[in-house]
Amino acid sequence: MRNAAFLDRTSLPRPDIDENAAAAILKAHYGLEGRIDELGSQQDRNFRIDTGDGCYVLKICRQEYSGPELEVQNGAMRHVGTKAGGPRVPQPVAALSGGDIVAISHCGQNLSVRLLDFLDGQPLTRQKYLSPATIAALGNLAGRLAMSLEDFDHPGLERDLQWDLRKASAVIAHQLEAISDPAVRALIDQTSSEALAALAPLESGLRLQPVHHDITDDNVVSRRNEDGVLIPDGVIDFGDITRGWLVAELASTCAALLHHCGGDAFRILPAVAAFHAACPLVEAEMDALWPLIVIRAAVLIASNEQQLSVEPDNHYVIGNAEHERVIFQVARSVPPALMRTAIRQALGHPLPTDWRKDGSLLIPALDPALVRIVPLDLLSEEFEAGNWLVDGIAESVLDAASLETGYAATRYGEYRFDRTLHHAPEAPETFALHVDLVLPVGTIIAAPFAGRLEWRGKSTFLAGDEMCLHLTGIDIQSISPGTVKAGDRIGVAQRLRVQLCRDPDINPPAFVRPDCADAWGYLCPSPQPLLGLDCEASPPDSAGLLARRLKVFARPQKNYYENPPQIERGLGAHLYDVTGRSFLDMVNNVTIIGHGHPRLASAVHRQWSLLNTNSRFHYKAVTEFSERLAELAPEGLDTVFLVNSGSEANDLALRLAWASSSARNMICLLEAYHGWSVASDAVSTSIADNPQALTTRPDWVHAVISPNTYRGPFRGTATTADYVATVLPVLQELDAKGERLAGFIAESVYGNAGGISLPQGYLREVYKLVRTRGGVCIADEVQVGYGRLGHHFWGFDEQGVVPDIITIAKGMGNGHPLGAVITTRAVAEAFEKEGYFFSSAGGSPVSCVVGNTVLDIMRDEKLQENARIVGDHLKARLQALGQRFDLVGAVHGMGLYLGLEFVTDRRTLTPATHETARICDRLMELGVIMQPTGDHLNVLKIKPPMCLTVESADYFADMLARVLDEGW
Ligand code: PMP
Repeated sequence: MRNAAFLDRTSLPRPDIDENAAAAILKAHYGLEGRIDELGSQQDRNFRIDTGDGCYVLKICRQEYSGPELEVQNGAMRHVGTKAGGPRVPQPVAALSGGDIVAISHCGQNLSVRLLDFLDGQPLTRQKYLSPATIAALGNLAGRLAMSLEDFDHPGLERDLQWDLRKASAVIAHQLEAISDPAVRALIDQTSSEALAALAPLESGLRLQPVHHDITDDNVVSRRNEDGVLIPDGVIDFGDITRGWLVAELASTCAALLHHCGGDAFRILPAVAAFHAACPLVEAEMDALWPLIVIRAAVLIASNEQQLSVEPDNHYVIGNAEHERVIFQVARSVPPALMRTAIRQALGHPLPTDWRKDGSLLIPALDPALVRIVPLDLLSEEFEAGNWLVDGIAESVLDAASLETGYAATRYGEYRFDRTLHHAPEAPETFALHVDLVLPVGTIIAAPFAGRLEWRGKSTFLAGDEMCLHLTGIDIQSISPGTVKAGDRIGVAQRLRVQLCRDPDINPPAFVRPDCADAWGYLCPSPQPLLGLDCEASPPDSAGLLARRLKVFARPQKNYYENPPQIERGLGAHLYDVTGRSFLDMVNNVTIIGHGHPRLASAVHRQWSLLNTNSRFHYKAVTEFSERLAELAPEGLDTVFLVNSGSEANDLALRLAWASSSARNMICLLEAYHGWSVASDAVSTSIADNPQALTTRPDWVHAVISPNTYRGPFRGTATTADYVATVLPVLQELDAKGERLAGFIAESVYGNAGGISLPQGYLREVYKLVRTRGGVCIADEVQVGYGRLGHHFWGFDEQGVVPDIITIAKGMGNGHPLGAVITTRAVAEAFEKEGYFFSSAGGSPVSCVVGNTVLDIMRDEKLQENARIVGDHLKARLQALGQRFDLVGAVHGMGLYLGLEFVTDRRTLTPATHETARICDRLMELGVIMQPTGDHLNVLKIKPPMCLTVESADYFADMLARVLDEGW
């Protein structure tokens, strides 16, 4: 076997043919001319041909590879081309001579030439990041190809090829000889030998069929689906097709994916599941998959190192070297038993979980009633006001819990909140695979099952027949290694960590990432049976909860993300899901003082325990809060209504305008949002919120062009007169009909488009026109006002105007339902003719205490100033991204109301809608909450809690830079 001819051929250099020679061959044998560009290849010469009428690939190889080996490739492509449901594949093109393989001689070389159609689409080669959906699509493509090839037959399939993993042992041994570094050689040898040994007992169960062997990033082409996701759907280059193990098809795809997985082998699992869905695997194939991936990685690296020794200047091979080293490293980095388990679970064929136990207890004297089990998940009452971020908090909590009886224990299978990390691109290792106990000094520990006892590092290790036990904290003096029976005394301990593991070769981690919890949980089951304690946490069922929500919660109330994290806690600008993953909250304009503020929580708690009633009663908080709001407003706006939301505030403002003007016609802006109630919805024109917005406005609503100085009809800051002029036709039309104007409503900064400043003087001019006709001017400050802009408390301050009515909500209650209308006494009193105004909860004692406390915190923590400083810093960082990435069209806004607008072309301003969606999805994976907004869903509205730190702003900018750099 070792001297078989195919092994020697792995050492042949590529044919010596340049682009001129290729052009001559093309003309002579196919009658074609055109632009020629060389494509990379390990052993052949490939050229892309563009004749103007069509694109082709000219493939030239040594005759050592020709005959049935080329015929089988053409045959396979034709075969797959006839299959419904098969992938796109190129079709061979006949030469002038009629055949589709031409033998030529060039400069003493005997060569074979073929021409194929060029398959359009993007290869995945240069893609720095592949989304789970793209990875799944690649697995699906490999599965569909495997199904299409199942009934293909050809004599050329029976050839020897170095990629046929049935021959891996001989191939690797042959290639190892050419590797000069003994350490590299030994590593490849050891890794491949272990994987080959794991594979050997499974081989008889592996099905044979034609296998492409190379559904990898270089050899597929992709197109974007309607959501902009890159979907590989075409396969090129059938050069490695031969009969082989069916599962080797998936193994070669997965090995290639290890280069795209950021060092995390689990990221191949969507491809495995998708392959199985298209082409179901049998159990032996499931178990053989990971050993085959490792073997393929070993063949790749060995072949590459060997090829380099033959052709040190082949750039294609040099370029691949680093690539293949990464694949090999990742393949070596995970315990094979873990991957086998994870693959089984991903395919819905989990391994049996039971294990026999002979009933002995680890701590014979333990009385479960005395043990205080301490929950340490994010809902644990032990955690408050950020104490989970303090080093060693779990130990101190456990110690404190043990004070009463001497016993305390943590829970196995819990997502430990003290393990959360802020600003982490990957989910932290939070899932506990162990139980920690605090025991009275000198507590006796006994063997729960028979086995061999040994000392491993800092742990005591007991290897039983089916299970191993890792114990940390047993007094080393008290241990005597050797064989023990169940019930034998092992030693004494006071703090003890208990962990099981099925695999004696694994030293299991104490905590693992949430996405690995199931696989690790199988390998390291709960030690509860050994302890006789109820110390297992039940996993949160976030998916089940979402399904229940979708069933009962009215559909128009959408949720962020298709697979949303279950967020149950927050602190400052950070949100946490039930697995202990933290997310930087860059969208929550409502929570201005930050999440989980202890001062607000205790003020609210106190007020609830004192009184909560309605504003017809006389109490201090409503007076104080109204006074403070009136003080914040400009001179003359001294009268306050308290409601529960922005919609209510705008609804009331419209009614005030109607009452005070005795007219009904309102002017509003296009692409605006003012609320959901009947009247506030009537002046909401944004099609992102309501696709029918432009066709369903009542006749009293007159929408004018929004002064969007970035993408509106008039661009730049010197457009005030142009935009003001767009209001005139409405006024003239009303005049012509003899109708009067009630007023004008607009955000004072164009919040809905990302915080674009209105052109200077716009509001002054429009307010003048409106007031001349007896109308009132409403400033909707629900989003942009209340200090968020940093440089101004109110948005209208930037325009140097004073409205007649201000509406506020959102931030003033930090998420508590609270809204207000601030106006002049005259306007408020005009409303009295319509009767009383009363809102049952508006201005309640609790709401007013919330409002007052938010203002206290804003003052004491200087949050407006923070919004200015951090906002300016962040804006500069975003502008710097604009220098690097063409996708950034503009950075709008100020303070902590910023808008990052993405365009595919800075000249035409074509909205980059798909890209924005993909960027937000990826940011979410990196721990940042961000959503596409604006009428074209191409704007990131950046409006985080106003307590955002510079560190958090930098994390956001860094992650954005990373995503833009990775592509999408
Ligand atoms: N006005 C503006 C400018 C808003 O952005 C919103 C909410 N997005 C509202 C009014 C309505 O506020 P609420 O959701 O509190 O009813």
